[in-house]
Amino acid sequence: MPDVPITPANPLSDITELSGAAVKSLAKEGFNTVGDVLFYAPFRHEDRRRMDFKGFSPSETPVCHHVRVLSTRVLRFGGRGGVFEATVEGATDNPMNQRLTLRWFNMVFMQRALAVDMELIVYGKIKESKARLLMDHPEYEIVRGDDDDSGATIHTGRIVPVYRLRGGLKQKALRVAAWWVCQKLEVTTVGDLLPVPKASGEFAGMSRGRACVTMHYPAEQADLDQARRYLALEEFYLLQLRIVRRRNVFRAAAGWSQPTSGALANAFLKELPFELTSAQQRCLREIHDDMSAPQPMNRLLHGDVGSGKTVVALAAMLQAVEAGQQAALMAPTQILAEQHFLNAKRWLEPLGLRVALKTGERDEQTEVPEEGLFSNSDGYVRIQNAIFEGSPISNEPHLYIGTHALLYDAASIPRLGLVVIDEQHKFGVAQRARLIQRGTMPDVLVMTATPIPRTLTLTVYGDLDVSTIDQRPKERGKIITAIRTQKKLKEVTKFVLAQIAEGRQCYIVYPLIDESEKLDAGAATAGLAEWTKLLAPHAVGLLHGRMDGATKDGIMRQFRAGEIKALVSTTVIEVGVDVPNATVMLIYNAERFGLAQLHQLRGRIGRGEHTSYCVLFVAEKDEEAKERLTILEETDDGFRIAEEDLKRRGPGDVLGAAQSGQAPLKFGDMLGDTRLVTLARRLAERTLEEDPDLVQTKHLPLRAFALENEAPLATLQ
Ligand code: ADP
Ligand code: MG
Repeated sequence: MPDVPITPANPLSDITELSGAAVKSLAKEGFNTVGDVLFYAPFRHEDRRRMDFKGFSPSETPVCHHVRVLSTRVLRFGGRGGVFEATVEGATDNPMNQRLTLRWFNMVFMQRALAVDMELIVYGKIKESKARLLMDHPEYEIVRGDDDDSGATIHTGRIVPVYRLRGGLKQKALRVAAWWVCQKLEVTTVGDLLPVPKASGEFAGMSRGRACVTMHYPAEQADLDQARRYLALEEFYLLQLRIVRRRNVFRAAAGWSQPTSGALANAFLKELPFELTSAQQRCLREIHDDMSAPQPMNRLLHGDVGSGKTVVALAAMLQAVEAGQQAALMAPTQILAEQHFLNAKRWLEPLGLRVALKTGERDEQTEVPEEGLFSNSDGYVRIQNAIFEGSPISNEPHLYIGTHALLYDAASIPRLGLVVIDEQHKFGVAQRARLIQRGTMPDVLVMTATPIPRTLTLTVYGDLDVSTIDQRPKERGKIITAIRTQKKLKEVTKFVLAQIAEGRQCYIVYPLIDESEKLDAGAATAGLAEWTKLLAPHAVGLLHGRMDGATKDGIMRQFRAGEIKALVSTTVIEVGVDVPNATVMLIYNAERFGLAQLHQLRGRIGRGEHTSYCVLFVAEKDEEAKERLTILEETDDGFRIAEEDLKRRGPGDVLGAAQSGQAPLKFGDMLGDTRLVTLARRLAERTLEEDPDLVQTKHLPLRAFALENEAPLATLQ
């Protein structure tokens, strides 16, 4: 039926060039329609364009030649197997009168396929042996001698697709199907997902149909690149549609308007022993503006370890308090919540503020007179009165500090104006969606020390505004990092003892061996015994995730107070712990950690004015690890380290949360395609401006906009 236009919906049997048997075997592997084949992208291509024939010569890479069969023979060795050989010459030209021998081992049936005088396109590596030029098991295609038209070959003489195979399907069979699909398809029947590209520019004249066809059989490498980029743009666009849509939903929620003079925050900042860096000040202004506006803030505060995010967050919390609201800070671990609580108490109690600690383990509230009346510094009394007059908060805490469990209590915090989420890049959309359900959504500030390149920010944090603290406080001691094997344990111990003698403290970290932390705790416990001996008579403490909260808390208190000189621990200290007097960190089995994680861990030292030292223990023979970890010796720039990490591991980990529910990208490269991601973002924003409630594009259901349990967004197959 030559006149029926072939669309992606047609069954493959409508393509008459495919035999019934071929259609059947394709169906067995799930290829039923033209679209099934069209949208099944090859995973690579081989350039099998024929070279100008300048004779045969041995080569490391496969080559493609047009040849004529001169003779064939079968060689048998002792009755088993046998070799089929065909001797050929250049078909179009044969300047040097060269011969090439094609060989197939154990395939004597080839003698039925090839005969003298046939013309073939062959593809394979040429080698030389005993004055003969040989090509073993070439891919070949027979071309008719009389009307050779290089356009007629499918498997050779062009850039050919290579597919991942499933089931019993053969490469050639799929290639043939794709070929005829591409020949017969009416490309205009493939609906575009992207808004129509402009007439000029990179994607001029591109359409989804054309891109798909080109992706299978490109004429030139450049065409393939363009098709890939178009399809990548499409993927990024679908992802961004979802992200921008989500961002719009959060922005449209009812929020608090919390404009203030900033007096309370300033009173707090004035009492600090340091000045904010200009980066901290800028971020604080951005937060202040957001919080003053009526729509909810959804902001990320992004800054390398030690850049000083906590004080910025506390100042923001005080803005909420000054506006007559309450604020909550959620930390990822008990230890960190306790630490924030200690700091907040130290800094904020004098301001007459009630701070409450709420974790799964412990509830505590600072005791402050109901009406904060302090006159130890200028202005407090006035501020206090101004704030709490007419405020519905009477005996309620002004600030809550806790673990994520706090979120589930959020309903009982009557005037929650700001939620700060510390060090938690996995704090998900679903959690924020819970906050929307309160009726009035609190402002949200997410803090992370995971440095992320901008492209990834658009995806991972694409529904947040971003403030970056891109500057570290001055007067920080350097961190010197060294990779060592355990052979050096003696020297290292001596060094640690010397540091302790100077009054410093030390962390000794054992890796998380399994998720349950069982083995992990075991390794650390053994480590405690060893280090207690090595460092005697100094006190050595132990900290791991399976201890109860009170024990952990006690140990941290002793360490902070300097009673414990060395703390043997698991990675529970990874985030946030701040003990400026600790200047040495030893990390066992450093090879088990990612670069970014080691950087984060090492951020526990170098927090005071003293020079700090980080020793990464790796196995003697692990050259790969030594090489990988060198960058930590070279730099303490978190961005450089994160980029290196991403390059090595791929963005999968970082993207995990953002992409959950989304099929992994097939065409797009999150790290390489910066420009496309940015373009996709713009296109998605435009689409949603025109159609804010978009739930469906013409060709694709976008069911995926539910905030909780996001359903997968349909993508290319
Ligand atoms: P992080 O960004 O890793 O969470 P913190 O907020 O814990 O960092 O800050 C690290 C340390 O630096 C803390 O002891 C904090 O009090 C201190 N700090 C914060 N800002 C400054 C600053 N502008 N100057 C000096 N020290 C600062
Ligand atoms: Mg922190």
